[in-house]
Amino acid sequence: MTTPESRFRPAALGDSPRFAGVATFMRLPQVSDPARLDIAILGVPFDGGTTNRPGARHGPREMRVASSFLRPVHPQTRRSHYDLCRVADAGDCPINPVDLMDSLGRIERHLATFVAAGCVPLLAGGDNLVLLPALRAVAKARPVGMVHFDAHSDTWDSYFGGSRYTHGTPFRRAVEEGLLDAKRTVQIGLRGSLNAADDLEWAAAAGMRLITIEQLRAAGIEATLAAARAVVGAGPTYVCFDIDAIDPAFAPGTGTPEIGGLTTFEAQALVRGLGGLDLIGAEVVEVSPPFDVGGITALAGATLLFELLCVLAEAKARRG
Ligand code: MN
Repeated sequence: MTTPESRFRPAALGDSPRFAGVATFMRLPQVSDPARLDIAILGVPFDGGTTNRPGARHGPREMRVASSFLRPVHPQTRRSHYDLCRVADAGDCPINPVDLMDSLGRIERHLATFVAAGCVPLLAGGDNLVLLPALRAVAKARPVGMVHFDAHSDTWDSYFGGSRYTHGTPFRRAVEEGLLDAKRTVQIGLRGSLNAADDLEWAAAAGMRLITIEQLRAAGIEATLAAARAVVGAGPTYVCFDIDAIDPAFAPGTGTPEIGGLTTFEAQALVRGLGGLDLIGAEVVEVSPPFDVGGITALAGATLLFELLCVLAEAKARRG
């Protein structure tokens, strides 16, 4: 049971302007002890799984800076989710930028200490391969469901003559490792040219529900959310938001951009629509600041972290 006194709040505007001080997620205190947290916002500064243009290792730091724009009260619920749970910036996961497999181990072991303390992780990537060590930590006990926003399915088998661990393969590895329940997985926003006509066959055959951007546009946001909720049901569910689900007009700072994507307005509506699900973790990945323009991709990423924090906090509070 948490008392109001044990909760953390963003720095008050009366104390310092939002551009001042050391940048943390949402201007929260930095607290690295899992025992003091219900939800830990963690950076994962790793882009060793990137197959095209890099830079997502710089995502956490730039999203911290961009998150200074976020105020504590959600505009729709008129609630401060910092009243519901103990939330803080828990720092960055340790990584080894010259050893991919070592990095996956370090990320998993670090996140496992949070999961063991009953703490829900909210991750700021990093490339999409960080999903795999995240699921090894949060889905160790049982496979989880997944709401996955992305232009890409990320269910390829291998790259470059047999490399199986890249940002294009984590969902396939997670199913193979028994971490992800394919039948409780929905991928939303798929689009873009493929390597081969059967690129999406593995995901469909495994039982994943694939919703292309054309299908989303035809059905609308509400019907798409209803379909997603039906897929994941009432069981434990993780949310992965690859920023390239959003159109590069709104989010150019990413490694593998695809035109014809979501607007930032649609992205917000989709995440807000996940309220009520049993959410056990979430991430925003593939924000690559070196390719950003005026910080707009980092702002989109930071704002989606805030929206994810709100639905995570409600889920965590319901579980007690
Ligand atoms: Mn992608």
